[in-house]
Amino acid sequence: MSGARVLLVDDDAALLQALPEALHLRLPELVVDTCDEALEALRRIAEVDYDAIISDIKMPGMDGLALLERVHAIRPSTPTLLITGHGEHELAIQALRGGAYDFVKKPIDRDYFMASLARAVQMRQLSRQVEQQRLDLERHAASLEQKVAERTHELVAANRAKDKLLRQRDQALDEARVAAERLQVLQHVTDTALTHLDLHNLLSELLARVQGALRADVVAILLLNGASTALRVRASIGLEQAVGEEIALGMDVIGQIAERRRPYIVDDLTEVPELIPGLRAQARSLVAAPLVVESRVIGVICCGARATGAYTHDDAQLLRLAADRIALALDHARLYQEVQEAMREQRVGHLRVEELATQLGHQAAELGAIIEAMADGVFVCDPSAHITRLNKAASTLLGLPVGAAAGLTVADIGEMVQLRAGDGEPLAQADIPLLCGLRGETRTDLLTVITQVRTGMEVRLRISSAPIRDQLGNIVGAVAVSRDVTELDRLERQKDEFLSVASHELKTPLTSLKGLAQITRRRLERGGHTEAAHLAGMERAIVRMELLVNDLLDISRIESGKLALRMEREDLPALCRQVVEEQTAATNRSVHIDLPADAILVDLDADRISQVLTNVLSNAFKYSPTDQSVTLRLQQTADEVRVAITDRGPGIPKAEMPYLFERFYRVPGIDVQAGSGVGLGLGLYISHEIMERHGGRIWVENNPDGGATFTIALPMTARLRSVSIPLKVVNSTQG
Ligand code: ADP
Repeated sequence: MSGARVLLVDDDAALLQALPEALHLRLPELVVDTCDEALEALRRIAEVDYDAIISDIKMPGMDGLALLERVHAIRPSTPTLLITGHGEHELAIQALRGGAYDFVKKPIDRDYFMASLARAVQMRQLSRQVEQQRLDLERHAASLEQKVAERTHELVAANRAKDKLLRQRDQALDEARVAAERLQVLQHVTDTALTHLDLHNLLSELLARVQGALRADVVAILLLNGASTALRVRASIGLEQAVGEEIALGMDVIGQIAERRRPYIVDDLTEVPELIPGLRAQARSLVAAPLVVESRVIGVICCGARATGAYTHDDAQLLRLAADRIALALDHARLYQEVQEAMREQRVGHLRVEELATQLGHQAAELGAIIEAMADGVFVCDPSAHITRLNKAASTLLGLPVGAAAGLTVADIGEMVQLRAGDGEPLAQADIPLLCGLRGETRTDLLTVITQVRTGMEVRLRISSAPIRDQLGNIVGAVAVSRDVTELDRLERQKDEFLSVASHELKTPLTSLKGLAQITRRRLERGGHTEAAHLAGMERAIVRMELLVNDLLDISRIESGKLALRMEREDLPALCRQVVEEQTAATNRSVHIDLPADAILVDLDADRISQVLTNVLSNAFKYSPTDQSVTLRLQQTADEVRVAITDRGPGIPKAEMPYLFERFYRVPGIDVQAGSGVGLGLGLYISHEIMERHGGRIWVENNPDGGATFTIALPMTARLRSVSIPLKVVNSTQG
């Protein structure tokens, strides 16, 4: 009864007062709400779920029966007790029929009322509990159902997962089997590669392996040619007739495999152009892979099958893996062949070396014989200046028996002979020819006088020496060759003496002749005789002869070291102008001169420098066409003053330049174009000597646009420069 709550509805205020009190006494835990009319009661019932309702039947407005009906509608489980007045038996029956729980007659029998109410409340509470339990049960059932559904779902999912795992396991087993098969194929390919180094056998073995592995009807290996422009069918099973064919690398399947370096499948070969001659007749589908070594494509391997679409992605992968091994094997075979080739070449090379060694031996013997037979002395030493070879002439020169050179050094030779230079001075240690050679210097025609210590015999030699170098340029010795010029020098001296005497003897009569010719010419001119012209020609001839004789005299002065210079401070531009004037007056030729207006003072022998300028200028006239002018230009540099004479003649051939300033040298093939053809080839030699004696230079260059330029250069000391008047260039023409 705890927590039970009831509603008492009655319009009788006394009852509303008394009955709750009485109820409280008997049922102290019961809460009793009161209400004096039905409508209010309905409002409360809608709010509170009472355990029981007690209502009077007779009430103004809505009576107890109407209320009962309404209560049933909204609270069908709430028990309702109705209170009836005395004698209202019919109403009581009606109330029970209307669904009332009980009725209590007035005056109320309290015991009965309490007991009925207590039952009603208990029943209500029981029915509530039952309801609650039913609800709980329903909820429990629902949650059980939910759990069962979840479990079932989980079971289904677990079953599915199990099925999937089983399927995966089967698949993995299948893959493992395929992988094992492939590994075996690859192993076979590798084994084949390792056991065959001969390319031919290797290729046919590899083809057989690949054919078995890929169930192919046709297999072919194509290798790239040297220029990488075409693939050549190297070996095949099923396409033997195509072996040797070249397939140009285009944009077709094979070209693309080589270019993209990826395997390729063709499901139907009739849909692509013919790849290898005869392939389409043997196969409908194809798988092919590139042969790659160290990222370099060396060829392509193809497998064909009679059925269309015979190859899968896996087949392509297997072929690719096999192709990698095949490519390596082919590369190894190629290397093996190269090694074999190299070894063959080495053997041939060896034989060649032996042949060459024999040849060299012969040549060495030949050379030895030649050197021995030479009239010139040959001296050879090693880097430590030990004599390694002396020929017969050299031994004789030293006064040694032939073959006695073993163990001698260059210093020992110095003990046996005295060495002097051409001028008679003892030869400095540094100038000993073999030692010069060991230092890397090459010397030619060094005039040396040697005197045998033992016999006192004197010989004049021209010695040339040079280093001997190995292939790397290292000095491994030195060689000196001596030519006995004693007799030649004697003849030379005799010739010089003759020239000196002859020129001296010729000069005096020539001078008298010239004087006589001049006097006679003038007399004839005064007498109006036409023969005067002949005498003028005679005079010119005498002048030319005089020039020749003067050249010869100069030569003997130079040879005897008697060419004396009279040095004075002179204005070089003025000297040039004077020479140009004399030459142009005598020849009628024109000269462009390019000279500074101001003086440039130089220490020189005016006669000799005039002689040089005259010689160069007259050569320019002599060897260039008469209608071409000649240019004379003076230039001052930091330490020299240069006079350059340029002509428009034939120029000097490059090969002749080294000899141009030698005695009696005339360039072959260069004709005199103007004036007298007389010339001994002495002018440039004498000019060279004169320039050297001045501490100056003379040289020749060819002009880019033809002709030659001879330049003489005289040294300008700082002191000379300070007294010279600053340069100012003026151009003028003389002629
Ligand atoms: P030569 O008396 O013969 O002129 P040189 O010693 O003056 O003697 O000249 C030597 C040779 O050089 C000449 O014979 C000639 O062949 C050549 N030569 C000299 N000057 C010139 C030049 N300006 N152009 C071409 N050849 C020249």
